Amino acid sequence: MPITPVDKVWMNGEFVDWENATVHILTHALHYGTGVFEGIRCYETQHGPAVFRLPDHLVRMERSGKIFLTEIPYSVDELIAATHALIKVNDLRSCYVRPIAYRGFGEIGLYPANNPVDVAIAVWSWGAYLGDDALKNGIRMTVSSWRRHDPNIIPPQAKVTGAYVNSSMAKYEAVKNGYDEAVMLNPAGFLSEATGENLFIVENGEIFTPPLHSGPLPGITRDTVIKLANDLGMPMTERVLTRADLYTAEEMFCVGTAAEVTPVREVDGRMLGEPGPVTLAIQQKFFSIVKGEDEKYYDWLDFVD
Ligand code: PMP
Repeated sequence: MPITPVDKVWMNGEFVDWENATVHILTHALHYGTGVFEGIRCYETQHGPAVFRLPDHLVRMERSGKIFLTEIPYSVDELIAATHALIKVNDLRSCYVRPIAYRGFGEIGLYPANNPVDVAIAVWSWGAYLGDDALKNGIRMTVSSWRRHDPNIIPPQAKVTGAYVNSSMAKYEAVKNGYDEAVMLNPAGFLSEATGENLFIVENGEIFTPPLHSGPLPGITRDTVIKLANDLGMPMTERVLTRADLYTAEEMFCVGTAAEVTPVREVDGRMLGEPGPVTLAIQQKFFSIVKGEDEKYYDWLDFVD
């Protein structure tokens, strides 16, 4: 989806003009994938723009950094303040927020520690990641021929830029084969997640999602959906799932900051059809919360004004 430029990007503590938000060609992260990042959404509410679970995302970024010995030179509170200021300076009512902390220009070679950790935040207006039709009618998925990372190859709980070569190849393969998204199995062959979303299935009215030891990213939306299912009194279990579980599921949906709550209507030729009642109930609750229509969940909203 093309990006519409805004006025300013936050880079290392300063606002720079959009067109000047560039890096040197010898930036370490460009060559070796040594960056950690986040994807966050800010929604328009009756009390102005509100960022959904901003501190949780920034804490995850800090944790991703710890895994790669990349200490982010700004605290979570400083990055929260920077995000608010950036949304205001660009006069946005809703947007996607992309913070990134990466090994910058200094030396070339695999040892990263002599390169600075540069930090930037970009914001822009962004619609539905998989399209409006996807949110309404669901997407077509296929099980990828690519496996998700083994925890001793690249820890899947870290949102590190280099790891996304794997997601990108799976996405490319799925789209080239006429699907919208790929399901990714872990090295042992159990269900892990999608290329940038976590997965849920419904079987006999119960909701299931792979546990974190199956190797998905600990998604903030995944966590949100688990809590919502519990609050709505829907049976919800984290369970190791197989490829066959997908093929017999009554409903399936994928969740993430970008994809929000997207129904799945087909997986590898097995038709799930129209979004089912569980998917629709979760989707409706999710959107009412992020849009600030449910006061019970205001703790998850970070109001910018
Ligand atoms: N899995 C992967 C691989 C992702 O990149 C993302 C997006 N960050 C997700 C799951 C969903 O995570 P979240 O709900 O925190 O956006």
